[in-house]
Amino acid sequence: MQQDPDITYITPTAPVSPATHGGRAKCLQRLVRLDLPVPKTVALSFDEVKRIAAGETPDMAALMEPFDDAALLCVRPSSEDPDWGGPGAVLNIGINDARFVDLCDQLGREAATAMYLRFVQAYAIHVARLDPDMFDHINQDDPDCLTEVLRAYEEETEEEFPQDPAVQLLEVLRSMARAWSGTTARLLRQAKGAPADAGLGLVVQEMAPSMGKGECGSGVIQLVNSKTGERKITGRYLSQSQGRDALARRSAALYLERDPRGPSLQELAPEAFEQLIEYTRLMRVRLREEMQTEFTIENGNLHVLDGVRVARSAHAAIRIAVSLANDGIIPREEALTRVDPRAINELLHRQVDPDAPRDVLAKGIAASPGAASGRIVFSAAEAQASAARGEPCVLVRRETSPEDIRGMHAAAAVLTERGGMTSHAAVIGRGMGLPCVVGASSIKFHLRRKMLKTPDGRELHAGDVITIDGTNGEVLAGEPPLIKAAQDDAFQTLMTWADEVRDIGVRANADTPADAQVARNFKAQGIGLCRTEHMFFEGDRLTVMREMIFADTAKDREAALERLLPMQRADFIELFRIMQGQPVCIRLFDPPLHEFLPHDRAGHRELAEALDLPLSDVTRRVEQLSEYNPMLGMRGVRLGITVPEIYDMQARAIFEATIEASRDGDPVVPEIMIPLVSAKREVELVKTRVDAVAAAVRTEKGRDFTYRLGVMVETPRAALRAGEIAPHAAFLSFGTNDLTQMTYGLSRDDAGRFMSTYVQKGVFPEDPFHDLDTDGVGELLQIGAERGRKARPDLVLSICGEHGGSPESIAFCRAAGFNYVSCSPFRVPVARLAAAQLAV
Ligand code: PEP
Ligand code: MG
Repeated sequence: MQQDPDITYITPTAPVSPATHGGRAKCLQRLVRLDLPVPKTVALSFDEVKRIAAGETPDMAALMEPFDDAALLCVRPSSEDPDWGGPGAVLNIGINDARFVDLCDQLGREAATAMYLRFVQAYAIHVARLDPDMFDHINQDDPDCLTEVLRAYEEETEEEFPQDPAVQLLEVLRSMARAWSGTTARLLRQAKGAPADAGLGLVVQEMAPSMGKGECGSGVIQLVNSKTGERKITGRYLSQSQGRDALARRSAALYLERDPRGPSLQELAPEAFEQLIEYTRLMRVRLREEMQTEFTIENGNLHVLDGVRVARSAHAAIRIAVSLANDGIIPREEALTRVDPRAINELLHRQVDPDAPRDVLAKGIAASPGAASGRIVFSAAEAQASAARGEPCVLVRRETSPEDIRGMHAAAAVLTERGGMTSHAAVIGRGMGLPCVVGASSIKFHLRRKMLKTPDGRELHAGDVITIDGTNGEVLAGEPPLIKAAQDDAFQTLMTWADEVRDIGVRANADTPADAQVARNFKAQGIGLCRTEHMFFEGDRLTVMREMIFADTAKDREAALERLLPMQRADFIELFRIMQGQPVCIRLFDPPLHEFLPHDRAGHRELAEALDLPLSDVTRRVEQLSEYNPMLGMRGVRLGITVPEIYDMQARAIFEATIEASRDGDPVVPEIMIPLVSAKREVELVKTRVDAVAAAVRTEKGRDFTYRLGVMVETPRAALRAGEIAPHAAFLSFGTNDLTQMTYGLSRDDAGRFMSTYVQKGVFPEDPFHDLDTDGVGELLQIGAERGRKARPDLVLSICGEHGGSPESIAFCRAAGFNYVSCSPFRVPVARLAAAQLAV
């Protein structure tokens, strides 16, 4: 028979493809090819559906030709990618008063009534567009309910309910075709990644009876658990039901496998049950995917209506992909591509149970993934006190500063009013794996009154329990159930496969031994950025640091630095030992000094006491150090050049630690990185002093070692002048946080306030601190890489800004010839998988 390609009866050889008829039509054809008992099906192409939406009438005779005259039909959507959704299925098309009478004879009045009612209701809502509420009062057990519903339909529409099956089918097709072109449907599918002009196919299928005499019913089955991916027969079956009733009426549904808790399909229809398992297994092997089978039982006989990809959590997605590869069904490379790298976050952090109700208080920027609950505290000191009592707490601040580090360590989660993806709270939170929501400016922060007011007027006070969901940016009331992080064998296996294929390195940004340990556990290939200044906030170091800042003479400063030296040395020894011979890239001191000083009068007084200085001296010094625009002021290498003793001390600490850590392990080759460079001369000056310190340490200790000195490219000028900087640097590492800030002239600490408006109005496609701006900042990366490599072909290139962990940035950096990316320890697995996907 010559087939019309737009109205195709599905046979093993019919011309059906996902791109012309949609994924469901193609999948049904595969099931037909496997010789499964699939009811007769006709597929309508995207083009045909478009014409129907435009008002054309399809060739109804051709469409209905394959079906038995007395058959009832159903129509289901078939978009190119099943995840894009589509209008809901309509069942029992073709039922009318005459067939109702026949069905009463064949199946009994109750079943026939239920079927007719289902269709009239669907038709009234989707085709006649009547209010769904009008059926709310219907009691299906009432013998007159059908008459009542038909009368209601006729009253509302002033028309008789159509009796001609061809008319019914045509109207259903029209309503489904038009629903697809509606604005809401389009926006919904675009949000799921569908292109604006995505097509819709429709499949018309003969209804396989599932109501009537003997064991009849419908259900779904899959062979894995959707949450965990473990192999387990899962699903539901409901006698005398249709469609997805078994899922909608879960409490009435039966188990599939024999179960002590109640009756099961296995007991009611053992043969059909065995077949169902066999078919679902066959689908897994031949369709190369874990499938859910939709089925009906007709007097003990099985029909397979459909197969859909099993819905799955990230955890299950990994298990399923690894098990398909281990069973030889798909190659390992393909298993790597089956898991969304971002979804891995769900495995690394606790999450709010997706099935739990959520009482959302407000939404901010999802700055660090994971969820945690705790009592509200408003200061770092209260957080520490709370931790000491063993009470989990959420640290709430307008924004965090380095002084809050200890409070952050003590807290279960952090919430700030201000800030964006690269604010202090966000960067530190991600580094620590601490759930964090920043920029929650829809909440009113009355910090002096220790109170928060939510957009809907609810007041929250210190001690109230809230939950921070750093994965989606929500602040929730109370304590919803959380699910644990789960990195099982399948996760480890997938990661090993990823490392075997990827061709760009992945390091971690780690500041403390604890970070380094996490980095190591996640198999980072070294540390790409150690922000040393964070070490100065630990324990009593802050006081020594402040003494150094307050020193009036070079001699006093030296004395303070001498006390800091052993502390830094000890930190570095620990880092080197944890990283066991892997590269560790240490950035010299970066922030402006005033960050280490107290900001209020009480703090000034305390400091005056600690340093035994008059209060006026302290206030004066703090004022002297304050800057109008500190992020563009005396920080980074500018401080290194003006107060060189700080870098001298750090270089010495690094070299002495190198000698110490190399004693009992592999030789350590430290990397030293100069921040915020904008001119070649800055590098020359620092390099000369660092070389001199190295020479001095070698002579004093009588031991040799090597090291690499590199430059952090964080200013546009450094990228543009990479050609003259590279001869003095073994590596260039692009700090895209500052580079984005400086390229846009956009404060990374303040942009959060208006970023959402900017994105909403389409000024920026995305927050550039979140998604690397490949056009602008990206061009600077390319220019820097090109000019640097031209001057020095063995130049090592990397990215260490927060973008380093995002799959798109990794793709960009790989294409630009970078050697590695460096990101927060908890993003290392995401980066490893994303990098692998680029290489397969
Ligand atoms: C950067 O600017 O990209 C960077 C990594 O440094 P920081 O975030 O510490 O400024
Ligand atoms: Mg920076």
